[in-house]
Amino acid sequence: MQIKRHSILVVGSGLAGMRAAVAARENGADVAVISICQPVRSHSVAAQGGINAPLGNHPESKDDSVERHAFDTVKGSDYLADQPAVIKMIELAKETIYELEHWGCPFSRFEDGRIGQRPFGGAGYPRTCFAADRTGHSILHVAWERSVKLGVPVYEDRLVVRLVVRDQKVKGLIVYNFKSGELEMWECDATIFAIGGAGQIYGATSNALNCTGFGMAVAYWGGVALKDMEFIQFHPTTLYGNNVLISEAARGEGGYLRNNKGERFMEKYAPEKMELAPRDIVSRSIYQEVLEGRGYGTKENGYVHLDLTHLPAEQILERLPQIRELALRFSGQDMIKDPIPVQPGFHYAMGGIHVDGNCASKEVEGFYACGEGACISVHGANRLGGNSLLGCAVFGKVSGLEAAKFVEGVSPSPDAKYAIFEEFVKEQEKHDFWFSGEGKNDPFQIMQEMRDTMKLKVFVYREEAPLAEALNKIRELKKRFKEGVYLKSKDRLYNRELEWVLALEGMLELSEAICLGALERKECRGSHWRLDNMGRDDDNFLKHTLVNYVDGEAKLSYLDVIITKWQPEERKY
Ligand SMILES: Cc1cc2nc3c(=O)[nH]c(=O)nc-3n(C[C@H](O)[C@H](O)[C@H](O)COP(=O)(O)OP(=O)(O)OC[C@H]3O[C@@H](n4cnc5c(N)ncnc54)[C@H](O)[C@@H]3O)c2cc1C
Repeated sequence: MQIKRHSILVVGSGLAGMRAAVAARENGADVAVISICQPVRSHSVAAQGGINAPLGNHPESKDDSVERHAFDTVKGSDYLADQPAVIKMIELAKETIYELEHWGCPFSRFEDGRIGQRPFGGAGYPRTCFAADRTGHSILHVAWERSVKLGVPVYEDRLVVRLVVRDQKVKGLIVYNFKSGELEMWECDATIFAIGGAGQIYGATSNALNCTGFGMAVAYWGGVALKDMEFIQFHPTTLYGNNVLISEAARGEGGYLRNNKGERFMEKYAPEKMELAPRDIVSRSIYQEVLEGRGYGTKENGYVHLDLTHLPAEQILERLPQIRELALRFSGQDMIKDPIPVQPGFHYAMGGIHVDGNCASKEVEGFYACGEGACISVHGANRLGGNSLLGCAVFGKVSGLEAAKFVEGVSPSPDAKYAIFEEFVKEQEKHDFWFSGEGKNDPFQIMQEMRDTMKLKVFVYREEAPLAEALNKIRELKKRFKEGVYLKSKDRLYNRELEWVLALEGMLELSEAICLGALERKECRGSHWRLDNMGRDDDNFLKHTLVNYVDGEAKLSYLDVIITKWQPEERKY
């Protein structure tokens, strides 16, 4: 079978991947994108609320600056972000917005024609730029159009299942092609993983179905560490029952959160910022109200109300049209007339593939990562709303530039083909076994048990005993998976069952890393809240968690946080 080749292979066609491909192409590299889906079906398209930059366009944000935005980000991260990476991201924010505008992104505007900005959680000034409540849709479309203009090939309907590394150098990828049902061999000098989030580990998530995080596991198996995996953002306002996202823009536009007594309970938890406190704080406040009987539904699966009925109908129709429609369709409530039921759900993975501020791995040469699946360490222990799209656009570009520079000095290695073929054979054998029906375990049963465990024991509030139980359970599930699972559908073409089984193997690894990191981090920081270890412990835990795959096992270690400007302080809002 033929081995296909491009100098740089970008994995993932969301905002980060498309931005990376454009940058690499514009810098002369032979680059192609491999992705599960057509670019504009990537989850970035669903981003609603906006993208941050200190433009100072809002009447209340005249004094905004790079420094203020960077400080809010570092404080929001509960001081776990690497400060040089944060500063780099914010220094590039303005030009990133203007670049997107020049590419044709239809940003909403103020009367005087300047790009509109609205308030978002944890921000000192209104600095979230937006295109109504379809910001991701607009930005992803222009990034994709740009790649079409430059002639960047996109190979869709393909899942990258293995990273081929020899002597700590990237050699290529093994790819499952849904359309042909075959495994393919791809050679490259560098790869950029832009593989998105991992919400499907929990199931109760605002993320799309292809956000399994599987690509993080592929990097992990290839020798790149996972970083800060225990930090998961539970978005405070996902619709009760199905966890469809109701963007923070709804609170940015003035929405209130109310308990079953009709009280705006955020008064008790964040008297200054109220509903616009950072997400970790708002999620815990909702959870606390429910636990203490002031929510609706049950304590295990309760909710509160998001109330926008005091806002003018025109404002909702103009600024939040998609969100209103989502709430109408998925909960039957019209937010113009009625409060809508909301609860916290998995929204964003702060952790991910360990790379530095240039998106490069120090462990594997030629490996880069960007976007939600990467941990460049700009979000630390809690991400601010609107900073993810910014991170994807900024570091997408950085990774494309860096990879293009790297491949200039590399010539294709003669041993690459052999290494790729070796990995291809191993992967083929694994698939053949699953298809053979000899495996005894039902993969979907294992997936359900994994999700139940994570939702019940590794959620907003955490404690030693449930975390230890979760870790044991995940290890038992991994064992059951390894003993052998079977596929019911024997069709090789478009076998979505196979896609889930592949993803499940990865999700089990990620779950193990999350549990391990959470169990060992005996403090409260950002989204990680240990009821049995209250308070932040900078003496022992002002550090990143790393998990490496060593001889088939997860090995934990720590790495210093880079602090250059702001010393950790108590985080109050
Ligand atoms: C509903 C929702 C609303 C949001 N709103 C906002 C917002 O207003 N502002 C903000 O800043 N952030 C927001 N976020 C977060 C933000 O949208 C995401 O973090 C960001 O878009 C992720 O972009 P990405 O390019 O990293 O990943 P994605 O857009 O998820 O793309 C990942 C790509 O990787 C591909 N892929 C994955 N694994 C593989 C593999 N193994 N092989 C091949 N291809 C693979 C997928 O096909 C996909 O193309 C929101 C998120 C959600 C879910």
